[in-house]
Amino acid sequence: MKQFSVRTRQRMQMVDITSEVSQCVEETGIREGVCVVFVPHTTCGVTINENADPSVSADIISQTASLVPKQGPYRHTEGNSDAHIKASLFGSSVLVPISGGRLALGTWQGLFLCEFDGARTRRVFVQVIPAQEG
Ligand code: ZN
Repeated sequence: MKQFSVRTRQRMQMVDITSEVSQCVEETGIREGVCVVFVPHTTCGVTINENADPSVSADIISQTASLVPKQGPYRHTEGNSDAHIKASLFGSSVLVPISGGRLALGTWQGLFLCEFDGARTRRVFVQVIPAQEG
């Protein structure tokens, strides 16, 4: 399994990790299969969405903030319940097919780490599973 770190700069932020994940895939030399991208954290997530227009990720962040406000009422006493809820809404992993040794993303798609309780250093795990022969 490959991994890399991401330093986030804001409490809520979407960080484009497409090139780092692509690099991990290339290093495996696997041509056909599936790539698992996983974040081992409870207050950040991972998602696939448009990375051409930065307004898209800005809208996702601002509307997610409206959907799950920072102030409760919440029972969890760390003060970051909203971040835990947002992390579960987005999920901690995505799967991307590998074709011809590359991520089979659509033209406008990118992979994002979704920070909900930054700034901090996050880890991203990348596991490439080769397709069965035949
Ligand atoms: Zn917490």
